[in-house]
Amino acid sequence: MARVVVVGAGYAGVMAANRLAAVGRSDVDVTVVNPRPDFVERIRLHEHAAGAPRAIRPLRGLLRPDVRLRVAAADAIAERSVRLDDGGALDFDYLLYAVGSTAARGMTGSEHAWNIADLDGAESLRTRLRQLPAQAPVVIVGGGLTGIESAAEIAYRYPSLDIALVSRSVAAGLPASSRARIHAKLANAGVALHTGLRVTAIHASGVDTDGGRLPSDCTVWAGPLAVPDLALRSGLPVATDGRLRTDDALVCLHHRRIVGVGDAVAPPAHVGAHLRMSCQAALPMGAHGADTVLAMIRGQQPTSVSIGMTGQAISLGRRDGFIQAAHRDDTPAAFALSGRAAAVVKERVCRFTVTSMRFPRAYRWLPGATPSVPVPPPVAAR
Ligand SMILES: Cc1cc2nc3c(=O)[nH]c(=O)nc-3n(C[C@H](O)[C@H](O)[C@H](O)COP(=O)(O)OP(=O)(O)OC[C@H]3O[C@@H](n4cnc5c(N)ncnc54)[C@H](O)[C@@H]3O)c2cc1C
Repeated sequence: MARVVVVGAGYAGVMAANRLAAVGRSDVDVTVVNPRPDFVERIRLHEHAAGAPRAIRPLRGLLRPDVRLRVAAADAIAERSVRLDDGGALDFDYLLYAVGSTAARGMTGSEHAWNIADLDGAESLRTRLRQLPAQAPVVIVGGGLTGIESAAEIAYRYPSLDIALVSRSVAAGLPASSRARIHAKLANAGVALHTGLRVTAIHASGVDTDGGRLPSDCTVWAGPLAVPDLALRSGLPVATDGRLRTDDALVCLHHRRIVGVGDAVAPPAHVGAHLRMSCQAALPMGAHGADTVLAMIRGQQPTSVSIGMTGQAISLGRRDGFIQAAHRDDTPAAFALSGRAAAVVKERVCRFTVTSMRFPRAYRWLPGATPSVPVPPPVAAR
């Protein structure tokens, strides 16, 4: 019986654990380690912060019954065991590294901002928004998809607040026509756009930019993401941004018993350069990572990961949305959909993420531009 420890129970970790348990039933023993007993639907954290039903559900109800759950954080990963912050340790034959991402905190005064990238930040923002009087200024920093969704959601739930979005650009990765439509939709929703500005510091009462100060009673940080430093602290090979480096099959370089999945992992560019940090990439990475572990347990050659992206599904409050189709390499395609129909599609996408983790054997994904091929066996397994 091979002991597999999955560190992190987000989209990638839960998919990997359930697929391993479902497919490898008789020859694997799976334990998931996660700091809290809940699954956090991160893709709904902007809804959560704005006061929608909470975006958490018990992990025990999502994990297959034969998967063990250990509520703790991993402190250090050694050759065949992982040390936990509750004083315990777990020995493993294979480890799946799935610790995800959180907000990058480099900005001067970031302690004055509410972070939307993790549950604690979203909880605290939820409380803060409820305390604000009508017309209070709220500034969202960051014009990526999280900033756009957060601004629109807060405007939808709190129409009396004075909401602004500040960023150098808003929806930068989208074609000009899609960008213009999103700008118009945000303006319609009552969000004032301040584009072409660089935020230089955050204060308790405002946001400094290179174009002047914006008053704010509640600043929401929707800037870049960073990854936990667990791999770095454990002496594992990492990219410059701290993501675990793997081969084509998602096996950690030089550590053949560790497989990496999700936001916290950097596969080689020819299979992974187009995989932006997203739930869209984390789920198939989790499934492929599970297949790689099963192949190694059975003495077979794992295959290279091959994932095609499909597009961006953006919620704009509860009644509007925008879908931008993409080619498999994540470059935008011609098709876009907006309005109520797009909001419905986005909601279905969110629900599908949970369903797919419940039915991991049936889960399929679009292959990438590079086909999946067997990866040569390692020279020496550790
Ligand atoms: C507001 C918002 C909206 C988003 N919307 C979308 C969207 O529409 N579409 C999309 O594709 N993506 C979206 N994303 C991005 C998406 O949520 C992430 O890319 C996705 O969650 C990554 O999945 P993951 O499994 O790699 O990591 P996560 O979901 O972050 O899970 C990682 C898990 O590991 C745990 N962990 C961390 N450190 C340790 C440790 N030391 N020991 C044990 N466990 C640990 C964490 O607590 C967490 O449970 C959104 C993100 C945000 C914040």
